Amino acid sequence: MDLNRLCVHTITTKPWPIETAIERFSAHGVVGMTVWRDALTGRDISATGQRIRDAGMAVVSLCRGGFFPAETATGRQAAIDDNRRAIDEAAALGAPLLVLVCGAAPGQPLDISRGQIQAGIEAVLPQAQAVGVKLGVEPLHPMYADSRSAINTMAQANDICARIDSPFVGVVVDVYHLWWDPYLQVEIDRCGQMGKLFAFHICDWRTPTEDLLNDRGQMGEGCIHIREIRGWVEDAGFDGYNEVEIFSNRYWALEQEQFLERIVAAYKTHA
Ligand code: ZN
Repeated sequence: MDLNRLCVHTITTKPWPIETAIERFSAHGVVGMTVWRDALTGRDISATGQRIRDAGMAVVSLCRGGFFPAETATGRQAAIDDNRRAIDEAAALGAPLLVLVCGAAPGQPLDISRGQIQAGIEAVLPQAQAVGVKLGVEPLHPMYADSRSAINTMAQANDICARIDSPFVGVVVDVYHLWWDPYLQVEIDRCGQMGKLFAFHICDWRTPTEDLLNDRGQMGEGCIHIREIRGWVEDAGFDGYNEVEIFSNRYWALEQEQFLERIVAAYKTHA
């Protein structure tokens, strides 16, 4: 696998400031960068986007918006306001896509949260359209259904996108969240037919997973059939970036230059 579609998320090398990540990703032949909002704290956002492009990389997306559900109207409005800010940040950065971790409120049923997610996306959609930023619904593994996302399968993501029915709203496929789903291939195909397959995230699932959030593996060290899923995504018409997104306390503790070398090697062999 060559590197001509390799994108790396800033959170993958979280200890590095974004300026270092830009320089080192570029030096290793990475061609795309997805930027997490925390990496932009205190920066001139449009200048940072330009710096990424000047280093020869594309700005692939901004992570993340979402977290729409809340038990109070005030909470839901605060989420909508924050998503409007995130859309503006994506536009300033030059990112064509804002990734949505849709959210869930532990005190209410999941179907109520799903309705609030749809309402929240519809509330911010006019602004997204106005500035030309697409919104990507990323289904999360069901272990996060309590508080991070009430959208847990590819089918649910496709359904909400079909109901909203806008070319600006589509799906982000992340193998970590979806590899276990027996309907994954058919739903990826359905997503492609709708023209809503916006992004593809990769890493691996370690056994045993020691932390529900921050113990993702590098490609090839877990049980996810990454190449097979990538084949399904490509058969569905996707020709965008393969985005390496790894949250890992064990890898953040490494020297990040060494970690990045391992990522590139793992990508070539296993992605
Ligand atoms: Zn992801």
